[in-house]
Amino acid sequence: MEPTDTSPATSNITVRRGEPLVVITDVNKHYGELHVLKNINATVTRGEVVVVIGPSGSGKSTLCRAINRLETIDSGSITIDGKELPAEGKALAQLRADVGMVFQAFNLFAHKTVLENVTLGPIKVRGMSKADAETKAMALLERVGVANQAKKMPSQLSGGQQQRVAIARALAMDPKLILLDEPTSALDPEMINEVLEVMVDLANEGMTMIVVTHEMGFARRAADRVIFMAEGDIVEETTPEKFFTNPQSTRAKDFLSKIL
Ligand code: ADP
Ligand code: MG
Repeated sequence: MEPTDTSPATSNITVRRGEPLVVITDVNKHYGELHVLKNINATVTRGEVVVVIGPSGSGKSTLCRAINRLETIDSGSITIDGKELPAEGKALAQLRADVGMVFQAFNLFAHKTVLENVTLGPIKVRGMSKADAETKAMALLERVGVANQAKKMPSQLSGGQQQRVAIARALAMDPKLILLDEPTSALDPEMINEVLEVMVDLANEGMTMIVVTHEMGFARRAADRVIFMAEGDIVEETTPEKFFTNPQSTRAKDFLSKIL
């Protein structure tokens, strides 16, 4: 775990101090005529938990996908641990391994067991032996509370269990950070908490996390910072407390009035 220091970094935002891990500078992205990321600037430091929130279509997923190169950007730069994102090849596979990603729709490999889902990356990308990968995977499945499901196929698990497997799979690569894009929004209500609990534990353990979510409870419990996006812009960037109790922009006020 990274050392953290919760003293105020600036006059009005308390962040855990650390080195910058993700630095996003002047990033622009278009889909045809649509300007989906408008000169985005943001930094995420080690050990920090950033919640990204905003209306549907505001560019949250595009930003997440750009961070691990599932999307290209038109201009600007994104560095992870000081390194520019490679365009392709082995360096890109390495970078993707450093950035764990958990999607809304669980995205497990349907034809592999739960255990194989978690061991595949470490064996193929990290060159780990099968035995070591299995030992590690079982420990991670234990940690997210689904070790007893290891031999099953993903379709035999509930949505909440599948999403916890997806988190274990991301952790198996020892990522430098984890991106979670609406990890609970496809879940039945009774399963949301079991996934949020795992996420809160990870946050408490010092994992660097970028989480797109509208779960205010998670943001309040775990986030150091909230980034509010609308129409491709970062409109507000503040603490969860300030964002939820005293949003500054009209767009944030409108948005909150709809979700709260
Ligand atoms: P959010 O995650 O905030 O809902 P997205 O990043 O998914 O927003 O999308 C931002 C905008 O870009 C939306 O208007 C969406 O329709 C559009 N968009 C997303 N992906 C594509 C794509 N592959 N091609 C064209 N337009 C896209
Ligand atoms: Mg999205």
